[in-house]
Amino acid sequence: MQTKRVLIVGGGSAGWMAASYLDAVLNYEGRRAVDVSLIESPDVPRIGVGEATIPSINHILAAIGIDEKEFMRRTEATFKQAIKFTNWLDNSGEGYYHAFGRVTPTPIDNAGLHWLRSDRSIPFMETVSSQPRLCEWNLAPQMPGKWDFGPKLTYAFHMNALKFADYLREIAMSRGVQHYLENVTDIDLHENGDIDALRTDAGRRLEADLFIDCTGFAALLIEKSLGVKWVDYSQWLLCDRALVMPVPYDVDYPGFVRPYTMSTALSAGWVWDIPLHSRRGVGYVHSTAFIDPEEAEREIRAYEGPHAERLDSRIVEFKVGMREKAWFRNCIAIGLSGGFLEPLESTGLYLSDLATVLLTEHFPFHGDMETLAFRYNRIMANRFYEVLDFINMHYCLTRRTDTEFWREVQKPERINDRLKAKLEFWRKKPVAHVDFEDQLVPGQPYTVARSSGDFADHRPPIDTGKLFTRSSYEAVMYGMDFLSDECREWYGDDRPQSGVHRRIVERVTLAPEKLPPHDLWLQNVVGMPAYPAS
Ligand SMILES: Cc1cc2nc3c(=O)[nH]c(=O)nc-3n(C[C@H](O)[C@H](O)[C@H](O)COP(=O)(O)OP(=O)(O)OC[C@H]3O[C@@H](n4cnc5c(N)ncnc54)[C@H](O)[C@@H]3O)c2cc1C
Repeated sequence: MQTKRVLIVGGGSAGWMAASYLDAVLNYEGRRAVDVSLIESPDVPRIGVGEATIPSINHILAAIGIDEKEFMRRTEATFKQAIKFTNWLDNSGEGYYHAFGRVTPTPIDNAGLHWLRSDRSIPFMETVSSQPRLCEWNLAPQMPGKWDFGPKLTYAFHMNALKFADYLREIAMSRGVQHYLENVTDIDLHENGDIDALRTDAGRRLEADLFIDCTGFAALLIEKSLGVKWVDYSQWLLCDRALVMPVPYDVDYPGFVRPYTMSTALSAGWVWDIPLHSRRGVGYVHSTAFIDPEEAEREIRAYEGPHAERLDSRIVEFKVGMREKAWFRNCIAIGLSGGFLEPLESTGLYLSDLATVLLTEHFPFHGDMETLAFRYNRIMANRFYEVLDFINMHYCLTRRTDTEFWREVQKPERINDRLKAKLEFWRKKPVAHVDFEDQLVPGQPYTVARSSGDFADHRPPIDTGKLFTRSSYEAVMYGMDFLSDECREWYGDDRPQSGVHRRIVERVTLAPEKLPPHDLWLQNVVGMPAYPAS
């Protein structure tokens, strides 16, 4: 089989994840199926955010063959077991966890239903997962030595985004990925509309069979050259800017490292709070239509406290939406060029990761790009819809009325129709595993083969629940007090106390003696420096 040439443009997280994953997965046992090259600009910086991940990151690290501890050392990574949402419901200091792991009682997982029928005196997540407690106690999800504490805890990482891309670059280049530090200046199109070659400011002309656009929001290939449209989602997700402020531990070290991401709602959006080895990263994601830049600056500094006076901040503008077709002709947009749905559930890197994994599974070794692209685009689009609905839900379930922003996000026109229908449905019948299904392949009803050879998809989008399943929906819906009125009506006021699953009780009881504090684990195992508490 002829070796295929893949040329990636862009050396951010998306570009280097794609380069290292494609090389690792498609070239194996001495077989050179693809020649991967990557070109990145020496002048256009990476976006430099994207520091919280979800557990799927473990797959891509393992597939590339990266040692977890080495990865943590090189990227200043800390563990992430959950996201804690604070002040999303009614701004009273309340909070809830969306934890990665939970027990699934067998043979039938009715934990959600049992909790709804109870007095809901214990937060839902705490009845099915030990991780909210472990997070409150700032414990690591790993033991210092060999693990002997029952089923492993599910975790992801926080990491330094720039160091992550650098680390992947080093790995990819050491394995033969060709690297060019040059600006792409021109794109040569074939008369059939495909991309033939890229030209650079170093006078080079680079040809390939497949081009991957990882140029971030610039979308140099997919949009500027091929004209594929961006589908805008700002009607449902109002935030369009982040004010990013690193907080070095030299300036403020709280005395612990949280093993979770904090997401705290402010007046016109929310703040992420992400711990690394030498700093926390905080960023105020907000809507410029509802807050002016000075006020946003004041708010993030008030969130951080008096030491914030000494800190610099920078602005990151973004747009939310997705590419109408991520794969068009012989070009695939991966990363921000393919779409972005604000970072509330840390899905940016995940979507790049998924795109790359899907590409390996649909790699056009045999030329028939249209059929492969149809299926690829369908799966990617469904996953974007899934993420959109889920993030949209965090906002629309709020009961906050204290600012114009929070009043706005609850309006019917700010809730997309799929989500509206789902929430209506789940008001009649609580969410269940079976509610997440979808399978569609070319040739089935709703797909039409066009004379051009590609397929038109006439079926409305349906989320697949492969990412945000019933577990995640329950975490957020019940964290946001969904169905509380209905429960009163259905089950009356005199309901039994919420029960905590036996395995959670056992785990939480033993955790303080089994699991080390997160900061100590990081210091002892992956070399995080020790800091005096401020
Ligand atoms: C505010 C914000 C917060 C986020 N937080 C998270 C998070 O917590 N978790 C998460 O998973 N994701 C997050 N994301 C998403 C995440 O940042 C991105 O998915 C990730 O960084 C991938 O970016 P990228 O590689 O597509 O683009 P970039 O990092 O912007 O890289 C673009 C690359 O293209 C190159 N380039 C541009 N023009 C040219 C040219 N002419 N020639 C050659 N090269 C060129 C640049 O040099 C650069 O190397 C966040 C995004 C934003 C906006």
